[in-house]
Amino acid sequence: MKYISTRGAAPVLDFEEAMLSGLARDGGLYVPTNVPQMSHGDIAALSGLSYEETAFRVMRPFVGKSFSDDALQGCIARAYGGFYHAARAPMVQLESGHFLLELFHGPTLAFKDFAMQLIGQLFQDALRRRGERVTIVGATSGDTGSAAMEAFRGLDNVDVFILYPHGRVSEVQRRQMTCVTEANVHALAMDGDFDDCQARLKDMFNDFKFRDGVRLAGVNSINWARVLSQVVYYFYSAVALGAPHREVDFTVPTGNFGDIFAGYIAKRMGLPIGQLVVATNQNDILHRCLQGQGYHKAGVKPSISPSMDIEVSSNFERVLFDAYGRDGAAIKQVMDELQKGGFAVSQGAMQMLQEVFTSGRASEEETKATIQATLNASKELLCPHSAVAVKVAQEKRRAGTPMITLATAHPAKFPDAVEQASGIRPPLPPHMSDLYDRSERVTRIANDLETLKSHITESLAL
Ligand SMILES: *Cc1c(COP(=O)(O)O)cnc(C)c1O
Repeated sequence: MKYISTRGAAPVLDFEEAMLSGLARDGGLYVPTNVPQMSHGDIAALSGLSYEETAFRVMRPFVGKSFSDDALQGCIARAYGGFYHAARAPMVQLESGHFLLELFHGPTLAFKDFAMQLIGQLFQDALRRRGERVTIVGATSGDTGSAAMEAFRGLDNVDVFILYPHGRVSEVQRRQMTCVTEANVHALAMDGDFDDCQARLKDMFNDFKFRDGVRLAGVNSINWARVLSQVVYYFYSAVALGAPHREVDFTVPTGNFGDIFAGYIAKRMGLPIGQLVVATNQNDILHRCLQGQGYHKAGVKPSISPSMDIEVSSNFERVLFDAYGRDGAAIKQVMDELQKGGFAVSQGAMQMLQEVFTSGRASEEETKATIQATLNASKELLCPHSAVAVKVAQEKRRAGTPMITLATAHPAKFPDAVEQASGIRPPLPPHMSDLYDRSERVTRIANDLETLKSHITESLAL
C-alpha cells in the first residue's frame, strides 16, 4: 500500500514512512493511492468480534508490509488494553433508533485516545526496529495534547512538545498536559488560538533544516495512522446494529475533520453508511461550506465545546482532494487562497461533497439545552461536544435507519460547562481523581516561529 500527498509534489511513501513523517514535504497530507474494499461477506464476518479483532481486520490492508501480523496485533492489544471499558467503544441508546457511541473510556477521557494509544505503540515498534529517535511536535485544541503525552510519556526514542492556546483550554484539559511528570514530554502554552498553534506547527514542518535537524514527526489528526485507527469504530458500531444487512447513519461533532473523514473512509471501504452528518458548534465554517457558501474564514469565537473551535479544518483537504478528482495542483491553489481568507468550491467538487455529507450547527444555547434535555429524557450526561452532535442528529434522523452519534469526550473533562447547563458537576473517574492535587509544569511561549524553534532545540540539548 502506497501513500501520496494531496498536493501532488512529495515523495510516495509506504504506511510506516507516512506515519513517521506526518505532514508531507509539499505541505499536503498523505492519503492511500486506493481504498481497500471490504465485501458484504467480510463485513458480516466482523459480527461478534472484539474491538481488537475488528481493528486488526479493518486496518490490516492499509498497513501493507510495514508491520507483520504479529506486530500489528501486539500493538493493537497494548493500545486498547489500558482502556477502562471492556467493550472499548460501548453504545448506549438515547431514544428509539438513536444511539450514542461512547468514545471516552480511554486514559484521557476523549476519543483521541483511540488513535493516540495505537500510534504510540506503532511508533515505538517502528523506531526500535529502525534504531531511530524522533521529536514529536503537536498542536492541540485541548484533547490531542494530553492523549499524545499519555501515549508517548516515558518512551526511550521520542521527545514530545505540545502547543496549546494559552487560556483557551479547560482546566482539566490543561492539567492533563501540565501534570505529566516524565521528562520527555513538554507542554507549551502559546499566545493565540488553536489555528495559530496549528499554523506554527506547519511552519516548523515546512522549515526543512529544522525538520530534518530534530527529526520532526507529527501526530496531529493529519497523521494518516490516526485517521485509520478511527475507521475501526465505524465498522464496530455499525455491525453491532445490523450492518452490512442494514444501513446506518452517523453524526460526528467536527473540528479538524479527522473523525468524520474516518467515517468517509469506512463508507468508501464498503460500509453501508447512509448519511454522514457533520455537526459544528458556532464556529460553523464547514456547515456554511457544505451549504454551498464556499470556505471563508470569519474568525474563531471561543465556545463551550473548545475542541471544535477551529476554522482551518486540516483534514478537509483530504476530502477536497477526492472532490477535485485527485488533482494536487488544484488543491495547492485552493489552500493558497485559504491562507488569504478563503476559497470558492468548484461546482463539481461541491456536488461530490453534498452527495456524501450533510451538516448542521448548534449554537451555545442549543448545546446547553441539549445537555439538559438529554439528561431529563435519557439520564445521559453529555459533554458539550457530544451535545452539539446530539442536537444536529435529532434534526437529521430518518425513520427506519439507526442514527449513531459519536460521543467524543467524557463530561468530566468540561465540568464548568456541564454544570452550568445541567446543575450537575460530573466527577472525574477514579483513575484521575487526584488531578487537581498534582503540580503543573508548563512553558508560556510567544506565537513566533524562531522562539519556538530555539526553545525546542535547546530543550533537546539538555
Ligand atoms: C478533537 C475533538 C473533536 C473534533 O474532532 P475532529 O477529528 O478534529 O473533527 C470533537 N470533540 C472532542 C471532544 C475532541 O477532542
